[in-house]
Amino acid sequence: MKFISTRDPDKKTLSYTDTLLAGLAPDRGLYVPLEYPQVSLDELQSLQGTTYQEIAFQIKKKIIGGDIPDGVLRELINKAYTQEKFPEWIDGNITPVREIEKNLYIQNLSLWPTAAFKDMAMQQLGQEMNHELQKRGESLTILWATSGDTGSAAEAAMKGLENIVLFMLSPQIGMSAFQRAQMWSLSGDNIFNISIEGRFDDCQDMVKDIKNSAEFAKLWAVNSINWGRISSQVPYYFSGYLQVVDEIGEQVDFCVPSGNFWNVLSGYIAKQMWLPIRRLIIATNENNVLETLFKTWKYTATPADITSSPSMDISKASNYERLAYDLLGRDGEKLAKYMEEFESSWTVDLTDYWVSPQDLQGLGFISGSSTHSDRLDMIHYVEQKEAGIIDPHTADSVKVATDLRDKNIKTICLETALSVKFEDTIEEALWKTPIRPQRFEGLEQRGWDDTFMLLWTQREDLCTFMRNNS
Ligand SMILES: *Cc1c(COP(=O)(O)O)cnc(C)c1O
Repeated sequence: MKFISTRDPDKKTLSYTDTLLAGLAPDRGLYVPLEYPQVSLDELQSLQGTTYQEIAFQIKKKIIGGDIPDGVLRELINKAYTQEKFPEWIDGNITPVREIEKNLYIQNLSLWPTAAFKDMAMQQLGQEMNHELQKRGESLTILWATSGDTGSAAEAAMKGLENIVLFMLSPQIGMSAFQRAQMWSLSGDNIFNISIEGRFDDCQDMVKDIKNSAEFAKLWAVNSINWGRISSQVPYYFSGYLQVVDEIGEQVDFCVPSGNFWNVLSGYIAKQMWLPIRRLIIATNENNVLETLFKTWKYTATPADITSSPSMDISKASNYERLAYDLLGRDGEKLAKYMEEFESSWTVDLTDYWVSPQDLQGLGFISGSSTHSDRLDMIHYVEQKEAGIIDPHTADSVKVATDLRDKNIKTICLETALSVKFEDTIEEALWKTPIRPQRFEGLEQRGWDDTFMLLWTQREDLCTFMRNNS
């Protein structure tokens, strides 16, 4: 299996492990597979009833195409997904599905160490990167800015990895007590939490600024665009599918609460790999850039408002470029023009690029959005159905699925966080506080060591600190 940049007309290829350590392509494109591997119905059949780890192994093996030896890959997956990290797992199933009503399901992707689906990919990505660095005799210093969830997911994934040091900047303003405590609890070893006076934007500016200096030019932002992360999300669509179907080959719909288009892109890849997905339903909140895109084919950046499903508050969808590449016939030159038009005017219309609306409909995407009061209603509704207390992002998904679903086929809504992280909204909806899984009990009260939460405004101090600790 070979990989190419979305903006390279010559389609120069890289191996999987090269993309793993590469981030953005030099032409500012994103790496995608030269072609999508395929899974046969027989292979799907043979995965039924196996563990998540086995599904992840078989699917990633196809995507990686031999670049990591099978035995090693298995080992990395077993290290990423252990019983210890997933105390609530049941029979090796770490993405369990439950039914809310006939043909409507919720697949829980939040049993992960930080109770967010972003862990799923990060755990595996961390293992793969560490392995490749060891093999190459290299090490990696990561400087990252977080506004909340991605931070602890990254820390949980990188903690204790021998060849990686992580410096995490977070804003003093705008993080919840829970998020802060969660990050604090992960400090130590190779993880350094640094609190920055100001907001998330200030943290991001600091990262950009430091990376522009010659000394730290090679600092890595292992972020959403990493192909290893996207590909590690593909297996859970297979796992969800296998859990609900009566017969292999039956078509299902997935409904995905979406922001930056990472998660649902992985669903699209699963579909390209021939997993029988009929439609991918994209659910947004009030910040409905993606809803508009899939209804009008106009991609327009819009300032994001703060909502009660904050991980979906985006003004543009950084991963959409990978889908756009396929939509534009995998023509790197055309894609580069399309993205440049977007980057200069913050809006671009796909139909100006000779893509017909019929082609687009054939892809199976549909979209809808939800509001704060919809979320409250859905949290209430699902609880009444005795299907548990869902978080506000999952509520977006259930709302849009309820509006758009076809009752004759099965629809799986993805549950991307646990309600415990959004107690305020749950209290507003249900007049009670969700019960915390044991591992989060009293998190905010646990003592933390001040030396791991540093407060700096000066870039120079931070540089010295990184120099001394890498
Ligand atoms: C990140 C996130 C999303 C949005 O996922 P994308 O991959 O950015 O589309 C939805 N829900 C939760 C809880 C998240 O953390």
